[in-house]
Amino acid sequence: DLVKDEDLEILAELGAGNGGTVTKVWNKKRGCVMARKLILVDAKPSVRKQILRELQIMNDCNSPYIVGYYGCFPVDVHVGVVIELMDAGSLNDIYRQNGPIPIEVVGKVAEAVLHGLMYLYDVHRIIHRDIKPSNILANTNGEIKICDFGVSGELINSIANTFVGTSTYMSPERIQGAPYTIKSDVWSLGISLIELALGRFPFTDSQDQESESEDEDFDEDPTLPLNTQRPKISMSASNSDKKEKRKSKGVSLAGGGHTMSILDLLQHIVNEPAPKLVSRKRDFPEEAKVFVEDCLYKDPGQRKSPQDLLASDWISNSKVTQEDLKIWAQSTISQD
Ligand code: ADP
Ligand code: MG
Repeated sequence: DLVKDEDLEILAELGAGNGGTVTKVWNKKRGCVMARKLILVDAKPSVRKQILRELQIMNDCNSPYIVGYYGCFPVDVHVGVVIELMDAGSLNDIYRQNGPIPIEVVGKVAEAVLHGLMYLYDVHRIIHRDIKPSNILANTNGEIKICDFGVSGELINSIANTFVGTSTYMSPERIQGAPYTIKSDVWSLGISLIELALGRFPFTDSQDQESESEDEDFDEDPTLPLNTQRPKISMSASNSDKKEKRKSKGVSLAGGGHTMSILDLLQHIVNEPAPKLVSRKRDFPEEAKVFVEDCLYKDPGQRKSPQDLLASDWISNSKVTQEDLKIWAQSTISQD
């Protein structure tokens, strides 16, 4: 039975992105919390109906690596989509508030995203098209899931008509106009993993001289909290201060006051060597570096498939359990 808008009471705003706002809601009928996303759709009624029909495919997407779907409906000029609430937020929220993500956790993020991508493609022939840290969500049960995949062709079209659909996670071949393949998602995953491990977006205008401002706010190495450790208590900033800071950091593409225009960045992605998992501040395991390199071959033919990446040493030798992830996820929200 699908959720309707009149079942929902608004609780709090969770975030806003390109063409959408996400709200935490209370479902009066079912007595539980959910997330409602409103997408601005500037299209005629027939197109809006088609979008709502196409979104129903999400009802058949059942995987532990895909955010659950509860229903969709028109809300004045928007399309409302109700999905599972992920109470630790997106990986983007988590690293911006807590600093770089421990590399062992980044490995589990990679594993979850790859399982999600393979499920979407093998079972539904869907290519995600928008892998980035804000579309990877975590909950305090230690689960990691992906959301906002391209189920509706009409929705993709009407958003492309209202917004510049260029993303900085886009693969070189996509920037040059090649069609989407699952390999384009693998590139976006590679970029996202570096961003989570470094705590900053990997492209700067002087990539080889490492950004001075890397992890400027975070002087400690990120470590995986263990059962015996208590979550660190931070008294430096209130939740709202952190949110402000996060917003002001926004889409700055490089640290230290240098910024790259979107066109410079796209040109850079096409013409320069791919970024690597390296930091002047710490060493990453060799298997992690190799994994990321395998995601970021500029030639999609050389780039590894999700299946091959899942079989890699970094993923198969991981010792992190769901219990570890649970403790980690809880530590990211209990600091406020
Ligand atoms: P974007 O993905 O570009 O940031 P969205 O509108 O898709 O824009 O999402 C905005 C924000 O809302 C996300 O960054 C995330 O913080 C939050 N969010 C989205 N979906 C959920 C969800 N199911 N549970 C919790 N938070 C969510
Ligand atoms: Mg999103």
